[in-house]
Amino acid sequence: MPKIIQSIKAMQQQVKTWRKNDHLVGLVPTMGCLHEGHLSLIREAYKHADKVVVSIFVNPTQFGPNEDFAQYPRTFEEDIEKCLKEGVHAIFNPTIEDMYPVPQTTWVDEEELSKGLCGASRPGHFRGVTSVVTKLFNACLPDVAVFGQKDAQQALIIKKMILDLNFSIDMIIAPTVREYDELAMSSRNLLLTAEHRLNAPQIYQFLKQIPKSNVRSTRTLQQNFAEKMSAIGGQVDYFSVVSKDSLLPIEEIEEENTLIAVAVRMGPVRLIDNIFI
Ligand code: AMP
Repeated sequence: MPKIIQSIKAMQQQVKTWRKNDHLVGLVPTMGCLHEGHLSLIREAYKHADKVVVSIFVNPTQFGPNEDFAQYPRTFEEDIEKCLKEGVHAIFNPTIEDMYPVPQTTWVDEEELSKGLCGASRPGHFRGVTSVVTKLFNACLPDVAVFGQKDAQQALIIKKMILDLNFSIDMIIAPTVREYDELAMSSRNLLLTAEHRLNAPQIYQFLKQIPKSNVRSTRTLQQNFAEKMSAIGGQVDYFSVVSKDSLLPIEEIEEENTLIAVAVRMGPVRLIDNIFI
């Protein structure tokens, strides 16, 4: 059974005990409602660490006032079972009061990579993410932390934050795990209507055909994507073609340096996906 640890002090104590025995500690930060994508990160963590901590915390400070914090799916009992099967040593599951005991007035804010894509449509989101990941790093004191490529912008921002703030943590980015019909796995998929769930795989179907097609213009791709999404009841939040390192916009797709990232609203559910060219 994984140890379920709620307090930051107890978590730090546990890691210090492991470290005394020369164990390397891996952290997989999540918001719970675990699926195969999360489990693949746990398996990746075990390749680099002796003890793996999965944090489960739905972080209020990364949700905007009109976003789905209250609706975000919470399945803690099932999550424990899944962690048990993966041999996870500890689940760090603090309450909001544990993480934010007093009104927080100190924040970690990455200022460049956070500007576009999800940062543009979700103001303050990445400030919440970098701040909570810093707090999770300080609570779980990992040697290695694993994040998913599905959140490509988030992964890049955290990588930069680790560099900028001298965290002594190796970051690993693991590939996106997909459903049988290639929809990127996401806790939010559970909130889709049956019809939207049926059509949502078309997001990745569109992305997947880009490298094979002759269309190279970002504008044309944006128009084609918007039409395709509109036909299936989706609304494009953004379709961005950017340099994979700087996230700066690219007008014509180049070989080997391009990230295409999208966000689509299907009803109240916002889905993201991406592909590297
Ligand atoms: P979340 O619980 O959605 O905040 O995600 C926690 C971690 O799991 C993040 O590093 C995500 O990038 C990663 N993740 C989420 N979905 C997937 C997926 N389908 N494949 C791989 N990693 C994922």
